[in-house]
Amino acid sequence: MKFATLTFILTVFAVTLMARPSNLAAARISVKIAGFEVNCRDTRGNRVQLMKVSDLGDVGRAWVVAGVPFIVMDTELLRTLPAKLRLFFYGHECAHHVLGHWYAKSGNSELEADCWAIKDARDRNLFNRDDVSSFAPFFARSRGTRWGHLPGPERAKRLLACYDEE
Ligand SMILES: [Zn+2]
Repeated sequence: MKFATLTFILTVFAVTLMARPSNLAAARISVKIAGFEVNCRDTRGNRVQLMKVSDLGDVGRAWVVAGVPFIVMDTELLRTLPAKLRLFFYGHECAHHVLGHWYAKSGNSELEADCWAIKDARDRNLFNRDDVSSFAPFFARSRGTRWGHLPGPERAKRLLACYDEE
């Protein structure tokens, strides 16, 4: 899906939500990722909408369109991942909203989002340490990204370090 097409769909969805306040009230509080109930609110307290698409080209993205926060996830890529890793990627995108990165990006946004996602899932008893260790092989071949994701092996180590922090 082209970026412009996706942005258009999100905009239409956002405008529909705003035009009909009753729909906002009726919007689901939680959604299911890998069979787990999850929900997310952004730094302004707004409920984050989940949209699943195919052909995103990335597991997930965090966007704000017309003031409405979205997590967009690629169903095709998600399907290839184990349940806990799907939860982690949802948590990572949620973290960008919770930490307000859309409005004020820090140089460490990706590291902060990773760490927040791990600690949040740990504190809600969704991840134990072995779960986090089990992510390493999936990151092993990733070389990192220029927008701040560490190369895979380092990222996996960092996730465990976050788990072990307070
Ligand atoms: Zn990110």
